[in-house]
Amino acid sequence: MRYHSTRDAALTASAGEAILRGLAPDGGLYVPESLPAVGDDTLARWRGLAYPALAAEILALFLTDYDPAFLREAAAAAYGAAFGGKAGLVEKVHEGLYALELWHGPTCAFKDYALQLMPRLLVQAKAMLHRTETTRILVATSGDTGKAALAGYADLPGIDIAVFYPDAGTSEIQRLQMATQRGENVAVYAVKGNFDDAQTGVKRVFADADAAAELEARGIRLSSANSINWGRLVPQIVYYFHAYFRMAERGAVAWGEPVDVCVPTGNFGDILAGWYAKKMGLPLGRLLCASNKNNVLSDFISTGTYDARRRFYKTASPSMDILISSNLERLLYHACGDTARVAGWLAELGADGCYTVDGDTLAAIRADFACGWADDAAAAAELRARFEADGYLADPHTAVALRVAARQKGAAPMLVLSTASPCKFPRDVLAALGAVPPDSDFDAMAALERLTGTQAPPSLAALRKAPVRFAGSIDPAAIRAAALR
Ligand SMILES: *Cc1c(COP(=O)(O)O)cnc(C)c1O
Repeated sequence: MRYHSTRDAALTASAGEAILRGLAPDGGLYVPESLPAVGDDTLARWRGLAYPALAAEILALFLTDYDPAFLREAAAAAYGAAFGGKAGLVEKVHEGLYALELWHGPTCAFKDYALQLMPRLLVQAKAMLHRTETTRILVATSGDTGKAALAGYADLPGIDIAVFYPDAGTSEIQRLQMATQRGENVAVYAVKGNFDDAQTGVKRVFADADAAAELEARGIRLSSANSINWGRLVPQIVYYFHAYFRMAERGAVAWGEPVDVCVPTGNFGDILAGWYAKKMGLPLGRLLCASNKNNVLSDFISTGTYDARRRFYKTASPSMDILISSNLERLLYHACGDTARVAGWLAELGADGCYTVDGDTLAAIRADFACGWADDAAAAAELRARFEADGYLADPHTAVALRVAARQKGAAPMLVLSTASPCKFPRDVLAALGAVPPDSDFDAMAALERLTGTQAPPSLAALRKAPVRFAGSIDPAAIRAAALR
């Protein structure tokens, strides 16, 4: 399987090269040249596979330059003990509504599915391509990505990682998840300011030719753990298949009949993986893109105009607070099949903050996607309703999708992707349930356990006593020096 840029079909790469580079040389994203078709026989065989084995089969269809035995080992290491046997767990919310709980991994958010595997793919790509430099991963994070990347890259050979998070922008639990990270090759910095300050500082380092030259002289090359990397997208296709099989097994859907899915969306990576699964032959119905008040994507799917010139809202679902949704570029390419047109739209977005696709492209997108959005109050009301009526406890991101799913439920059974543990956001979840949250996240977590009878994931509860390795904070101006350390 070969890949090429969304903006120029002549810029091709193997899977290993695409994973090593992240972005194509022209700034486009790598897309597969064709999609593997999965027939009924294969689907029937895959139903019986455990999560790691299923992952190895699907990865092998896309990562054809990797040894299948390596992929089996990597998938077993990524999705075995680290997920405590709960990789791809599907829970019933109520009749016709199911939740795919993607937060049973080491950092309690769905990004573990990509970031437990992609680092192994990167190390292997370097070996296959005979690269000997040290890879330095720089991450600016508002929370979930930073911890998931730290956990994925810690102590891997030939790689080090520096994470920058806003000192006033994460929950106490998210901060401690990062500040207590173990590993010899990790560094974590709190940056005085908000997420933009951290992100702008890191982007500057990536664009700084002098910094690159200085690092090159020391045998270090920069890379990012961003969700535009194909190595982050491909592992996410797996759980759609796994979830469909589990729903069929419990009689929630008749084999071969469609399931609608609803995904809390930010950078459009998670839901796009569902589209790939559908195009490969999995019987999925509508893909519902659920946005929070930063509803640039649901406006786009409704109107065909992507307009990023709007107010940015800080919401209770911070991992969806995004105005430039990078992975949408891949869907644009697949919907129109024309790299020149995609390059044109992205150029307009860069210059004017806005573009409008043609009618055929919009129709192709709307053949698979529907959309909706919910503000914090609507999501909180849904969170409370699902707990009180169904005994199902969701986090604030998942609550956005539950709200959209409730409004748009059709005849087909609905699967909502549950993307974070409610215990990661205990104060907001308590408030949604009508309780007055205590100031400390840990007190709030204990109160949430008492009120709901749930048990906090041990990795979160253990943070209270874990030694802090990275204390203090730096000015945004010091990000460059930290990145070059
Ligand atoms: C990252 C994230 C999302 C959004 O996923 P995208 O792939 O960026 O659309 C939703 N919920 C949680 C908890 C996340 O961490």
